[in-house]
Amino acid sequence: MIDIIIIGGGAAGMTAALYSLRSGKSVLVLEKENFGGQIANSPRVENFPSIKEISGSDLSSNMFDQICNLGAEFELENVEHIEKVDDHFVVKTDYNEYEARAVIIASGVHHRKIGVAGEDDLIGKGVSYCAVCDGAFYKDQDVVLIGDANTALQYALLLSNYCKSVHICTLFDHFFGEDILVKRIYERPNIKITHNLALQKFNYKNELESLEFEDTQTKQKLVIPCAACFIAIGQVPENDKFANLVKLDHGYIVTDDACHTATPGVYAAGDCRSKKVRQLTTAVADGAIAAVEAVNYIDRK
Ligand SMILES: Cc1cc2nc3c(=O)[nH]c(=O)nc-3n(C[C@H](O)[C@H](O)[C@H](O)COP(=O)(O)OP(=O)(O)OC[C@H]3O[C@@H](n4cnc5c(N)ncnc54)[C@H](O)[C@@H]3O)c2cc1C
Repeated sequence: MIDIIIIGGGAAGMTAALYSLRSGKSVLVLEKENFGGQIANSPRVENFPSIKEISGSDLSSNMFDQICNLGAEFELENVEHIEKVDDHFVVKTDYNEYEARAVIIASGVHHRKIGVAGEDDLIGKGVSYCAVCDGAFYKDQDVVLIGDANTALQYALLLSNYCKSVHICTLFDHFFGEDILVKRIYERPNIKITHNLALQKFNYKNELESLEFEDTQTKQKLVIPCAACFIAIGQVPENDKFANLVKLDHGYIVTDDACHTATPGVYAAGDCRSKKVRQLTTAVADGAIAAVEAVNYIDRK
């Protein structure tokens, strides 16, 4: 029996592990893709207090090393179901079943798809949701970036370092990201911006060749040839599989301020929970709170 199982090895999950381990509890972190979660895909983090600038992958590795040194256990497995059995929990993954006294769900969010025909066929053939992962494949080529908030702006800046041109296409008539990022975007000579565009079609044979947009104001068609299309239009939660134990609001897990869910012994931390601000700092804060509450719950029993 493990004391605390943490679902998700992102910033929230790893912080929850840090606090749980330092309270003397045994911890298993289950991660389905990559430790670090979303922030591992960030080219540059500049708003984590005390660190002026760091890449998301370095930040993730530092967190990972820190909890490894404290004795965290890890498995790369996808959690499919949690069940309450007597006074403990059974966590079922695609490979195994584990028992725990308490569970912290830190499952984050996943990139949103644009929902245009051909999108799935083109993943790895010109369509990407991660400039950090795939951007370098398009060195010296023309790429399009669809999106208008911080992630899109960060991706455009990164891509403009090595792509020939980056054409940012936004659905509305302005950006929603931080002013400092918008200012940097306008300073880059190889970034072009067109607002009010709705993607209608991917033109492709084996690989992406061009994108077909409609101007939402003039209704005119615009075809943009490109080697790649990076899509950064927000995120969606994936918590339906936990709905037997937690209450969901638009897919996000409902908690109180102390990260308690509808089931005592089950906590939710980070971007997966219903809240206003989804950032690194709020994810790590949740991780700490959820862990302290989980530790208290176990100690009270
Ligand atoms: C490109 C990009 C740049 C960003 N830049 C910044 C920034 O500069 N500053 C800032 O403050 N914030 C930034 N953010 C937001 C920040 O990364 C997130 O708010 C924060 O990392 C959320 O952490 P989390 O642990 O809650 O979730 P996530 O990072 O989403 O981690 C959740 C983890 O859970 C795993 N998981 C999900 N379901 C399961 C399951 N069933 N079984 C096992 N594992 C599962 C996922 O694979 C994932 O690794 C950025 C986000 C992106 C995408």
